[in-house]
Amino acid sequence: MAQQAAEGVYFIQGQDEFIPDSHMYVIGKPDSKDLSLVDAGLMGKGDYKLGSIDSLGIDFASIKRVIMTHTHLDHIGCLAEIREQIPWAELWVHELEARPLESGDERIVYGMEMFKSMCMTQYNLKPGSFRFRVDRMLHGGEELELGGISWEVMHVPGHSPGSIAFYDRQRKILIPGDVVYADYAIGRFDLHGGSGGQHKKSLSELGELEVDILLPGHNRIDTNLPPGYIADTAKQWAPYLV
Ligand SMILES: [Zn+2]
Ligand SMILES: [Zn+2]
Repeated sequence: MAQQAAEGVYFIQGQDEFIPDSHMYVIGKPDSKDLSLVDAGLMGKGDYKLGSIDSLGIDFASIKRVIMTHTHLDHIGCLAEIREQIPWAELWVHELEARPLESGDERIVYGMEMFKSMCMTQYNLKPGSFRFRVDRMLHGGEELELGGISWEVMHVPGHSPGSIAFYDRQRKILIPGDVVYADYAIGRFDLHGGSGGQHKKSLSELGELEVDILLPGHNRIDTNLPPGYIADTAKQWAPYLV
């Protein structure tokens, strides 16, 4: 399923299996011919995601890059499938996850050993399946002009060390990856490189933003967020985040 969440922001819903599949967002005004994919999804979902992009009438030639909110398996699993069909697309990742990705340290992808062995068996994955060269390392603090829309990049660690969020200040749109979801839910903070304390700080930073449209990595999107929603979510979770 694909739909427009705002002008130049398209939502392609993840297709969860027994492991979740992350949503994908396509950002940029179509006539700019400078589109970016935000996150890919789970292994085997490449055709579904590309088919959904196609159904939006988007020409693959206008897709210039894939930007990862973070590199967990449910977001990066089908990146190779997508790049097979769009090999010119660059890969942009926060530096703290770009380095392990380039060196083949897959703890950043699997998050925990038990999950890793389960997934490798289930999906017949070989070691080194998620080693990628990163074209641009992000740091947080960038102001990116992507396809005619301006996005602030924020480094929001806690769910993973190199989690980033994209904020359109003008239209109050936030793409937070797995940091915060709709319905007062937040991402887990017990995986490799995660931290409850950092998660708390990241949530409170996001809580300072005015957000009307929340486009998270999973679950439903919310295009009419109540005022103070993220700050309230941060407050509810604060006792558990140490
Ligand atoms: Zn994640
Ligand atoms: Zn996820």
